[in-house]
Formats: sequence, structure tokens, C-alpha cells
Amino acid sequence: MIIRNYKFCLYPNPQQQKKLQNNLAVCRWVYNRFVEYTQDKFVARNDLNYMLVELKQEESWLYNYHSKMLQMVSTQIDAAQKSLIELSKKGHKTGKLKFVRYDQYRAFTYNQRGYKFDKHGNKDLLWLSKIGYVEMRKHREASGDIKQVIISKSKSEKWYAIVTCEIDGAVLSRIDFRKAIGIDVGVKNFAYDSDGSATSNPLNLAKLLRPVARIQRKIARRKKGSNNHKKAVKFYQIIHERIKNRRKDFLHKLSTQYTKKYDVAFVERLAKLNMVKNHRLARNILDSSWGTFTSMLDYKCKMLIEVSARNTTIDCSRCGKSVSKSLAVRTHKCDMCGLILDRDHNASINILKKGLHIFNIKLPQELREVTPVETSKLSRKQEDTIRFYLTEVH
Ligand SMILES: [Zn+2]
Repeated sequence: MIIRNYKFCLYPNPQQQKKLQNNLAVCRWVYNRFVEYTQDKFVARNDLNYMLVELKQEESWLYNYHSKMLQMVSTQIDAAQKSLIELSKKGHKTGKLKFVRYDQYRAFTYNQRGYKFDKHGNKDLLWLSKIGYVEMRKHREASGDIKQVIISKSKSEKWYAIVTCEIDGAVLSRIDFRKAIGIDVGVKNFAYDSDGSATSNPLNLAKLLRPVARIQRKIARRKKGSNNHKKAVKFYQIIHERIKNRRKDFLHKLSTQYTKKYDVAFVERLAKLNMVKNHRLARNILDSSWGTFTSMLDYKCKMLIEVSARNTTIDCSRCGKSVSKSLAVRTHKCDMCGLILDRDHNASINILKKGLHIFNIKLPQELREVTPVETSKLSRKQEDTIRFYLTEVH
């Protein structure tokens, strides 16, 4: 079973915003009650649901909220307890489940029922039981069987609906898996794909950021509130905007290029932790560029699948042997099968393999045999064989 998430912007009016916020508050209230129950023992989901029934009898106002949404809090607690157990099994120090603060609780879930998509004129609407119709921007069709809708609030107070769909055969049949690509994103090459083409990083960030640092120093030196200070701030904003636009432009062009050529794109799931840890501005911009690039691919191409990043750089894409290499080593050299490839190219083929594996499609031998030089020389006929092979297996 393949699950896919779509994220849509919601535009609740002030009254609806209050309602959504209220739902968050209620879920948090239930969550914290459950945290209290589970402080000194593991409580299974069914028992939590039973507690919920009892809780409702005491607090009848809970009946004003979608029952399935409240039950999903049990599921959440159940998962949180289990992951604590997992962590302690692995030797991590774990405490008890923590109570969540107001600003930490940002999402509630409608599972299986209680939601509906609708259209009024050219307005897209999302209907939520006990909440009503909320305007949304549906930039693409959510294809497949809708399993749940998560309503979440971002730190900047924007509301989103994350729609989880189960992809069925009908959706898959519209996708041509011969047009699949694995893309590796990185620092040296912004993107390196499994067909062998590399896009170097055109955002020469060090160069672009030099004036930013200069203007930041200026701002710091100048007296706050003075005209010169204001001028410097304004200039800073202009430069920032310019970098932002250039970045966006580049990402749009690259993602469109891929979408025109391919139906399915496989990328690595980026480690969110690494993104937060890094404080350097240049690196931050790069990190967020990869994220934006992925989300652009997601809404532009027919299908985007994120695969686990585990061992994609290490494993040999031809024979599977583990070839460890430091970040400085740019070439993958396998002494088992003799494959010599750019490290990012090797990674992107691994990503493609992992992705195709989800759909039970094997990477054709021919593709594994080629070196970057040969890729460009691939004749039309050879290319056809590869594609034909893919169809056969599929
Ligand atoms: Zn090998």
C-alpha cells in the first residue's frame, strides 16, 4: 500500500479560526489528561479510548467535538508511549511523557470520516464535521482514496490541511514508470540525477551573501531610528528579496525541467535535524532550497516519492557492496565490481533503485552498467531497450 500526503492552504474566516483554535485546545486538553494517566504505567490505546468515554460523561462539553478527532489523541499517546519504550530499549535515557504547552500543540486529525471536499463556484472548500466549510486552495487534485485529514497551524499562524491518500491501481496505471528518475541533492551539485546529468549550484551563495554581511554590519553600527539606519535596513531587505527571487527562479526552472521529462521523481527524505542544527546562513538557504525544490517537484510532477536516505552514498549502485567514503571523496570506486562513478551519480541511482523497489520494479542491468561518459552516448535504441525492460517488469 502506498500512502501519499498532499498539503493545502486553508483560509478560515475569523470565526472559523476561533473554531479551529478551539479544536486544538480541546485536543491538547485531552492529550494532557492522558499524559497524566500514563505517568507511571503504559496504557494501551483501547484503554485510553475507554477513558475518553468516561471523560465525556464527566465533561459533557466534549460531545461538541468530532469524536473521531478525540480518539486520534489516544492513537497519538499510544504512539508516543511506544516510541519512548523503543528509545529506552536502544539505551537512550527517557523520561515520562511530557505535558504539552499551548504553542507546542499544533495539529488535530480527522481520520476515516468527518471531512469532505467541495466546490462552490470556483472556490474549493473543505467541510469538517462540527466545524463547517472552510475555504482552501487546492493547487492540485488529491488522487487516491482519502484516509485522513490533518489540520495544522504553522508557527506563523497559517492553517493547512494535510490530506493522506492511499494510492490505488487506477492512479498507478496513469504513471509511466519508464519515466522515473532518482535525484540526489547536495552541496557541490545542487542536483545529480540517475540519468547522469548534474546541475551545479548556481546560487553562488558565498558571493551573494557578501553584501548581506556588509549591510548587516552597517545596520549594527548605525543609530537605531536614524535615517541612515532606516536606509540600511531598507537596502538589506532589497538584497534579501533579490536572493530570494533568484533562488525561487532557479528552483522553478529546474523542477519544471524535470517534470517535463519524467513522470515519477524519487528523492531522499532530508534529515530535518541537520537542517535545524546548522546556523550558517548560506547552509540554511541551501537546506531550505532543497525542501522547496522537493515540494515544487511534488506539485508539478505526477508523483514524487521520498525514500530513506540510508546508505545511498555508501552502497555501490551496481553490486550493492558497501563502500564507505568521507565527504571529501567525490568518486565512488567499487573494488568488488569495478564501478567508478561520481559519488552523487551513484547515490542518485541508489535512490532510483529504492524508489522503484517500492513498486516492485527492478532497475535494468543496462542502466547499472553505464558510466557517466557512456550515458551521454547512449543510443536511441539502447534507451528504448531500457525503457522496454522497465515495462516488461512492470
Ligand atoms: Zn560494486
